[in-house]
This record gives sequence, structure tokens and C-alpha cells, in this order.
Amino acid sequence: MKVLVFLALFGLAFASVKHYNGFQVFRALPKEEAHWKAIQDLENGGNFDFWKISGKHADIMASPTRIEVLRNFLEERSIPYERIVPDVEDMITKAAQEPKVSQGPRSTRYALTWDNYYGFDTIKEFCFELAASYPQMVTTTVEGQSHEGRDMILVKISNGGAAKPAVFVDGGIHAREWISPASVTYFMRELVENYAAHPELVNNVDWYFMPVINPDGYQFSHDSDRLWRKNRRPNEDGCRGTDMNRNFGFHWNEGGSSGYGCYDTYHGGAPFSEVESQVVRDVILANADQIQAYLTVHSYGQYWLTPWGWTSDYPEDYPELFALASDAVDALTAVEGTRYTIETSTNALYMATGGSDDWAKGGAGVKYSYTLELRDTGFYGFQLPARLIMPTAVETWEAIKVVGNFIGGMKK
Ligand SMILES: [Zn+2]
Repeated sequence: MKVLVFLALFGLAFASVKHYNGFQVFRALPKEEAHWKAIQDLENGGNFDFWKISGKHADIMASPTRIEVLRNFLEERSIPYERIVPDVEDMITKAAQEPKVSQGPRSTRYALTWDNYYGFDTIKEFCFELAASYPQMVTTTVEGQSHEGRDMILVKISNGGAAKPAVFVDGGIHAREWISPASVTYFMRELVENYAAHPELVNNVDWYFMPVINPDGYQFSHDSDRLWRKNRRPNEDGCRGTDMNRNFGFHWNEGGSSGYGCYDTYHGGAPFSEVESQVVRDVILANADQIQAYLTVHSYGQYWLTPWGWTSDYPEDYPELFALASDAVDALTAVEGTRYTIETSTNALYMATGGSDDWAKGGAGVKYSYTLELRDTGFYGFQLPARLIMPTAVETWEAIKVVGNFIGGMKK
């Protein structure tokens, strides 16, 4: 009886959670130009949640009532496909039920660990505790508030003195990509608590971290909808959220984004219409003379992407961007063989305008601007199990170190 009462209360408490029973994910494998065109039309139609489009395939989620529509669409056009997730709710439940294995670093000073995913408040507490524990090296500030009033946290790691060449890292712009804040906080901790292992990284470089730049969406993905992507501000058409990675003001709204507020790639009413993207812009611009590298951390797909997303043309200095990316990825792959693809976003994935990486390079003049799409390649997708946080963070940290050392060796 007690169990029933508990279950009833549990049910009430989570009554507002979005469920995905019967939702399925299909991987379409276009073979020719006409196939790709059809897939893009399908995405622009807005009836399906595109988890990922890469140069090789598109992972498309369909609600139970649209599964047949999707299959017919693909079959009529002879686009090969396979079902990769038979039940999305089942996948989410399994990821949440995974036994927790204690494997990451632990501290009595903060609750955050790297063998579980945490809500925004725990990450925020970690940022302030890190500064309180290492006041010589870490400064944590609040740079503004999100639409729902959460703090936009900036953590600067520096040993002081004259301004050094800097690396800026952000995470969590897309709410459901939980491995991003989990990895970014790991980099911060490693840099500070393991300073003695690589003092040059702090001695030669100033670091700026914003581990969760979409705090409302991120918390919503924990509380109510595991697959939420955008921020949470209401739009005029009654839907909520802007895709902040379509909202940055460089070639904004020139393709690969949507004008409909209900769509997952809604670009917002104007460039930088969202308070969260404004804060990121302002932090970068305020330190633009220092920042030489911009790293924005996403998942999934295992890509190390360079601008541009607005054109298939390569940036003039692509050979330099590629060379650093290549060294970084080599270090990542050396850990346990994880493979990454290095390309411009347009050529690796698809054209998408209003991305933060394009703006960082084209708008703020940060030469080495990259989007990282962390693990995996789609088996777990956004539901990457917590036991894979450490392996992902550890290998990616090797790449971040390469970038840091490179920037630290640059002449100002
Ligand atoms: Zn993303």
C-alpha cells in the first residue's frame, strides 16, 4: 500500500513531464543530391525533430502519429533508412536508471561530480565554490540573468598580472546536450585543482568559461522535457524558445534556420534578440583583444567544426584553423581511439546561420573559433550514459590542453 501511495505522489510530482512513449528515431541515409534536398525540405517543414544531420545521414525523431508519414516520405523517394531508436521514452528511462559508478574526482566542497548529470544550481554552486577555494586563480561573476532569472555565470581562471592571450569556452547552449556542461566543468576543475600537472596552461593563458549559457532550457530539460533544445522565452505564436545557436548576429537569418517560433531552429525575432546570447556577446566583446580561441561545446556526432556555417566557402585562414584542430583531435584520439571529423560546419553538416562560432570569428574577430560536437555518433545520442562522462571529458581535455598551449605560445 505504501508503495502505491508513493507511486501516486511520484506521479503527481512529475505530472508535467513530457513523455516520449512510442516516439521513434530513424536514420535516413541519402545517396544523391535529390535525397538531400528532400531531407532539407522535410526539416524546414517543421513536423519532425531532427536530432542530427551530418554529411552522411540524418537522425529524425517522429511522434507515433507521424511514423508512417516519415516512412512513406522516405520510401517514396527511395531514400534508404533504418530505425535506430525503437522507443525514445524507453531510451530516456534506461539512461536515468543506469547504475551510478563512482569514478570521477570528488570534493567535499561542492556536490558536483563527473559520474552523474546535475541541474543548473549544482553547477552554479560548483563555480562559486571553485572561486572561494582558489581565490588567487579563480574569479566567478554573474554577467546577467536569463529570461527566467537564472544567473549567467562567468568563471575566469588566471594567475593575474598583465592580460595574457585567452581562451573562451562555453557550454550548454543547446539544453539537451548534457555532456557539454559536464565536460566544460571538468576542464575548469582540472585546470585549477590539477594546476601542478600543467602550470603553463594557467601561467601563459587566461581562461574564460561559461559552462551553461542557456540555463533556463538546461533546467527545463532536467525537470520537464529531456529533449528540449532552445531557451524558454515565449514567442508571439504561443510556442516557447529561440535556438540560441541561430540567434547570433553574423549573417543572421540567411538560411538553415527557421522563422517559426514553434520550430526547434527558430532564429528569434532579430539578431541577439535573446538576453542569453546578448550576455555571451558582451562578455566576448569586452575581452575581444585578449581572446584568441573560442570553443563552444555541443553534442553529438564527434565533430571538430570550424566556421563557416553561413557559406560552403572556406575561411581564408582555414589551413591554420585545420592545423590546430588536427593537433587537438590527435591528442583526443590518442586517449582511447575516439575518432573525430574536422571540417567547416556547412561542409560537414549543413548550412546554418546565426551560429555563435561564425559570429565569434566574423563578428568578434576571434581567429580560432570552433564548435565541438562531443560523443557519441548516435547510439545514445543526447542520452549519453553518465558512466561515459569521464571518458568523454578526459579525452576532450587533452584536446583543450593542445589549444591552450598553442594560444599560450602565441605572441600577443
Ligand atoms: Zn548543439
